[in-house]
Amino acid sequence: MELVFDGHNDVLLRLWRAKAAGTDPIAEFVDGTSHGHIDGPRAKVGGLAGGLCAIYIPNTVDFALKAPDAHGHYATPLAEPLERAPSLDVALAMASVAVNLDRAGAWRLCRSTDEIRAALDAGIFAAVMHMEGCEAIGEDLAALDVFYAAGLRSLGPVWSRNNIFGHGVPFAYPMTPDTGPGLTDAGFELVRTCNRLGILIDLAHITEQGFWDVAKTTDQPLVASHSNAYALTPVARNLTDRQLDAIKESRGLVGLNYAVTMLRADGRDDAETPLSDMVRHVDYLVERMGIDCVALGSDYDGATIPAEIGDASGTQKLVAALRGAGYGDEELSKICRENWLRVLASAWHE
Ligand SMILES: [Zn+2]
Repeated sequence: MELVFDGHNDVLLRLWRAKAAGTDPIAEFVDGTSHGHIDGPRAKVGGLAGGLCAIYIPNTVDFALKAPDAHGHYATPLAEPLERAPSLDVALAMASVAVNLDRAGAWRLCRSTDEIRAALDAGIFAAVMHMEGCEAIGEDLAALDVFYAAGLRSLGPVWSRNNIFGHGVPFAYPMTPDTGPGLTDAGFELVRTCNRLGILIDLAHITEQGFWDVAKTTDQPLVASHSNAYALTPVARNLTDRQLDAIKESRGLVGLNYAVTMLRADGRDDAETPLSDMVRHVDYLVERMGIDCVALGSDYDGATIPAEIGDASGTQKLVAALRGAGYGDEELSKICRENWLRVLASAWHE
């Protein structure tokens, strides 16, 4: 089995919601459940050995994807900006779930690639605390210091929503990612501070202008944790060839997003999406950037994924499809783990 360390999941969101509904999140992760995508038993079956686990603040105003028109086109407006104080409460509650899972031995919260490798060797899920949109952090970045001390090692300045640090891309098809301004002054300062502390900057969800703003500021490889190729699926969340070339140039990576809306040529939210669409994106990314710059970023617990994968227990079906498409052991180890470990080691100043 090819162990997978994956660049994006929303299991903390699901567990936080479970807790709010009266379910013990530790028991749900350890014993397993039938809903959602990730828990300990299903991760074990699928060889999902760990990943970046997002602290994500849900929208407070009702937010739903716009239904596609007769051509399959849709353009969902950006979600409304969030207030800071309630966002901080949610972020603390999700971080608390992450810390308590670690304390209970349900997973290991990792702060170095040595800790990730040790967890992989021990067969314990290796979680890295990630923040997807920094609404919980104020311009003074004091909260960033505290979240860092609690284990935060990766963040995206924005989700598909604007905040004090920058501008996000809407969910729209077909639509270029060049939808508006990029980083604010506070956003540039956030990037420099993350470089200094050793926090990975994630470019998923940011506008194309924001991507270039980070690119000219950061001293680290460029990383999009869960995005695909715009040339194959022209959705605003995917990356143009120019962006892919810049990622290659920096020796960064793109984590393949399993979200069907970002895999299918027609952009439709249809779980009956063949594994060949996933392979097609991996092939394209590898052709454009080389084998060292392509990895996985499932978006488990955050998106509609192909029915054939189903949940984390089906992860090896993708590995098998890639093997069937001609990827050998060394290439698969890079796609499944080693490329992530390389960029994390760099971002974390190891
Ligand atoms: Zn996302």
